[in-house]
Amino acid sequence: MSYPASICVFCGSSMGHDSDNRQAAHDLGIMIAEAGSHLIYGGGHVGLMGVIADAALAAGGKVTGIIPAHLRYAEDEHPGLTELIEVESMFVRKRLMIERSDAFIALPGGLGTIDEVLDVITLAQLSQHAKPMILINLKDYWRPFGTLLDDVIDGGYAREAVRELYTLVPDLDGAMEALKLQD
Ligand code: AMP
Repeated sequence: MSYPASICVFCGSSMGHDSDNRQAAHDLGIMIAEAGSHLIYGGGHVGLMGVIADAALAAGGKVTGIIPAHLRYAEDEHPGLTELIEVESMFVRKRLMIERSDAFIALPGGLGTIDEVLDVITLAQLSQHAKPMILINLKDYWRPFGTLLDDVIDGGYAREAVRELYTLVPDLDGAMEALKLQD
């Protein structure tokens, strides 16, 4: 059984109100490290982002952070990463995250997280990549996002096939199961 060589996780730069999400970020970091996958993320040491990076590193995993120069202080650039790549803008960060990763997972997060998820799906819609985008629907966090996309499709503004460009899973195990590669 094997997993993608690199997995990018999008999640909040805030901790959020629900401590279960903090635990989920911690557990996912360990699962990615134990799967032998390289974690790619935004490079900060804040919120759920910091939690997942710390957990993956403590479990012996490799972690690459990609951070725009202007956020190095605001997002408290992580001092202990396997690799930290500084880029000039948010756009370059997103592009590099998407280029460097074989698969994407989203935990709960804010506007940046939503933007990143939508960018991955939109680029897949334009056939710019064919990498999986997994939304971990903890306590139905991503349901309104799925409903919005359903409404867009039902309204005739996106093709039915867009439903195939992302996968909603209920929990962390579901995410890793969805990413398992056929050997
Ligand atoms: P948030 O979900 O808002 O806490 O942000 C999660 C990560 O997404 C943080 O590293 C933000 O810097 C990043 N982010 C915020 N806005 C954008 C954007 N427009 N494009 C790409 N990343 C963003």
